[in-house]
Amino acid sequence: ETTKSLNFIEHIIEEDLGKGFPNEALRFRFPPEPNGYLHIGHASSICLNFGLGLRYNAPVNLRFDDTNPTKEEQEYVDAIKRDVEWLGYTWDTERYASDYFQQLYDWAVALIKEGKAYVDSQSSEEMAFQKGTPTEPGTNSPYRNRSIKENLELFEGMKRGDFEEGTHVLRAKIDMNSTNMLMRDPIMYRILHKAHHRTNTDWCIYPMYDWTHGESDYVEQVSHSLCTLEFLPHRELYDWFLDQVVDAKRIRPKQREFARRNLSHTVVSKRKLLQLVEKDVVDGWDDPRMPTISGLRRRGYTPESIRSFVETIGIAKRDNLIDVSLLEFHVREHLNKIAPRVMAVLDPLKVVITNYSDDNEEWLDAENNPEDESAGSRKVPFSRVIYIEKADFREEANRKFFRLKLGGEVRLKNAYIIKAESCTKDAEGNITEVQCTYDPKSKSGSGTEESLRKVKGTLHWVSVKHAVEAEVRLYDRLFTHESPDTQKDKDFMEFINPDSLQKVTGYLEPNLKNVTAGDRFQFQRLGYFNVDTDSNPGKLVFNRTVPLRDTWAK
Ligand code: ATP
Ligand code: MG
Ligand code: MG
Repeated sequence: ETTKSLNFIEHIIEEDLGKGFPNEALRFRFPPEPNGYLHIGHASSICLNFGLGLRYNAPVNLRFDDTNPTKEEQEYVDAIKRDVEWLGYTWDTERYASDYFQQLYDWAVALIKEGKAYVDSQSSEEMAFQKGTPTEPGTNSPYRNRSIKENLELFEGMKRGDFEEGTHVLRAKIDMNSTNMLMRDPIMYRILHKAHHRTNTDWCIYPMYDWTHGESDYVEQVSHSLCTLEFLPHRELYDWFLDQVVDAKRIRPKQREFARRNLSHTVVSKRKLLQLVEKDVVDGWDDPRMPTISGLRRRGYTPESIRSFVETIGIAKRDNLIDVSLLEFHVREHLNKIAPRVMAVLDPLKVVITNYSDDNEEWLDAENNPEDESAGSRKVPFSRVIYIEKADFREEANRKFFRLKLGGEVRLKNAYIIKAESCTKDAEGNITEVQCTYDPKSKSGSGTEESLRKVKGTLHWVSVKHAVEAEVRLYDRLFTHESPDTQKDKDFMEFINPDSLQKVTGYLEPNLKNVTAGDRFQFQRLGYFNVDTDSNPGKLVFNRTVPLRDTWAK
């Protein structure tokens, strides 16, 4: 921690502390809008804000930015809390922008009284037209000079529910000629006759983001309000709104911006992820193919791996695309340390060991994790008929094929050396069975000369009569394009990978009979897998979190 170099946000804070800003006054917040589930992009913001909290021993609020009742739901609030906790962070207080609706309203009334806000009764088209363009000035609304009395009456009427949606808005009276379009009399309130997930029908006018965010930061006395770069042009307005309410004796929040993180071969936008859910492209927000925190969790990702990924990519000043293989690298690294090794065959080929008696069986020692001595060992059953992977046998192959071929030998992991003597084929020429002999003196760990004999390949396997079946879900990227939502004239939905999910029946060593959802394993030579939430003792279901090696490497 101490040797880690500071990111530019930390530099800003250090500078403020250097100028005398009291460390005890540092306070941060993570401000999600509860209009969807959190995704891997949010993880950057979560780790940044909560990481600052830990570094400076400062409180971090979880603030729901819930000002748009048309898109927000309690389900999303619950999911967001679950995900932040799962990532390993604890917030100081749970806050809602809706807690401040009355305060915001009172401040808005004060602005009207000072002649700094007015009710505009034009259509949204008229207002948009009058906004002008970045190179041309805007035009004042004909309602801009309404009397304070009339504005107060209309605004009260808006709040009371006297008017239809779209008939009036409250605007800040700033400057229709500002070079910053956001300063051209921005809307502060609109009428929405919609029930809110927390305030129900108490309100039928709702404050806009810009009017809400900075004032909420101020109420909570957030010292550094960190947001993504698209809010950079909003900073001027953030400051203007604060100027109207700030008391010089209290902390004045400071907005600073950092780059959005985008991940390749996916989309990180709640709106777009919602489309995937609504159009049944995926099986819900927590589908293991989704880049949501809940999808990654269900897929078998660990919080540690997500945090170390986020830490590695760091905080940037410019938006960029991070390759998903970096995320996969981090989960592989962590699972390598913690996941017990087991044997499972996903594409089975029957092998009969002809010199092994049919009524014999042995339970052989198998190490649980070579990376972790404390993980101990287990017993795996061996018998006359086993499965190996189809890809691990060829009738003929060159010297570089270190698996099983006719006349060749391999070691069965934790067991014996076998030699392929012959094979059987069906009418189409597919190999259906391989007949082998085993060397009884070659048992792994037995210490005999034969057990130490080096053979080129080692294969995983399972005993057919002991194996447990499971549905194994193999995932591929959800999109075929590395940046599906930035392609000109193309909708991101056009790049959906039709083969992102493949379900196979796997044969697993019997130790896996009693697994429960969330358990993680390395299926030796295949990858990391975890038990899906759909799994039950009658029907086991596994997800492939990530293959062992990056099969995408060029
Ligand atoms: P979305 O488009 O997915 O809805 P958003 O920015 O509107 O994203 P919020 O719920 O407002 O979503 O986000 C909460 C916080 O997370 C904000 O501070 C936002 O800037 C940050 N955030 C959102 N997406 C990313 C991302 N891809 N990278 C970094 N930070 C992000
Ligand atoms: Mg937002
Ligand atoms: Mg959004």
